[in-house]
Amino acid sequence: MNSLVIPSIEALKPYEGGKPLEELYRELGITDAVKLASNENPLGPSPMALKAVKGAVDDIHRYPDAQAFRLRQRLSEHLGVSGEEIIFGAGSNEVIELLIRTFTTAADHVVFSEPSFSMYRIVAMGAGVQFSAVPVRNWTHDLEAVAAAVTESTRLVLIDNPNNPLGTYASETALLRFLEAIPKTVIVALDEAYFEYVDAADYPDGMRLRSEYERLVVLRTFSKIYGLAGLRAGYGIAPRGLVDYMNRLRAPFNLNNLAQAAALAALSDADHVKRSKELNRLERASVSRALRELGVDVVPSQTNFVLVDLHRDAMPVYEALLKHGVIVRPLPPLPSCVRITIGTRSENTRMVDGLREVLG
Ligand SMILES: *Cc1c(COP(=O)(O)O)cnc(C)c1O
Repeated sequence: MNSLVIPSIEALKPYEGGKPLEELYRELGITDAVKLASNENPLGPSPMALKAVKGAVDDIHRYPDAQAFRLRQRLSEHLGVSGEEIIFGAGSNEVIELLIRTFTTAADHVVFSEPSFSMYRIVAMGAGVQFSAVPVRNWTHDLEAVAAAVTESTRLVLIDNPNNPLGTYASETALLRFLEAIPKTVIVALDEAYFEYVDAADYPDGMRLRSEYERLVVLRTFSKIYGLAGLRAGYGIAPRGLVDYMNRLRAPFNLNNLAQAAALAALSDADHVKRSKELNRLERASVSRALRELGVDVVPSQTNFVLVDLHRDAMPVYEALLKHGVIVRPLPPLPSCVRITIGTRSENTRMVDGLREVLG
């Protein structure tokens, strides 16, 4: 078999998402489980997005608008950029793939942090690209080390800000200093999947940094605060030259009819975003406090999840929590940690109570 694929695909471990609720039901028969494993919005999507999806269902025999004209127009107003600077993906995940597949060859090199969004490594390995995974320091991006890992072959640096799974962020000062240190030929992708959740005053809005660095790409998604993870809609904002190249590789109908309709409607429901952020802010504080009272370490988070260091093998804790009907996310690269999404008040209470029992 191993002659069929390049060695880096041979060595690849598939992405493991959070355990689906249905799978837990199949395995343990638990019907009322709570899933706090994939950083989904516990409030669900905006009612306006749901309504738009229902309205669009009748037309699913039609191919989607390959240019996503209406969504592009609405988003370009929303962001204050030209429509030609937007590239849509089936999740921002697909834009990450497009970046690597369009701009790198096996002779090239990409850089990201370790840990960071696990798809960076998977996509790089799948493309057979060389990469450096630069360890974080004190639970945050070590941007000086990331810059130092850039070589003459480096085409792309991926920074998730905030970082998943850490929940921490790089400040505006740190990021500007970093951009100054990067050769201007390198593409820097700022992955802002959790942008809307951040309230730190020194968090840099990637859109404003675009004027500071020519080859900056900002990645955003409808999967997290917009609550549309199941429809797969994300996008990148990039210089038009880069968008043009990625478009040559992009599958024409990557953003399906329902995703386009839902995302368009979701952009008009600022109240839903605000409500979601406010719930998260309050619950994140109380979850963090309650977990610390259990004697575990909680990394200060700017996102809709917290990284928890249990200071023991996390796998048995994860398994025992499943039996309590609580799904969190184990993180193989951090064997003493779990990542826990902030849910509703009752979901969080269930999680904390379960963990209290499991930790004994
Ligand atoms: C969730 C996530 C994404 C991508 O999500 P999509 O559903 O593909 O849009 C990208 N980056 C980070 C850091 C994430 O956590």
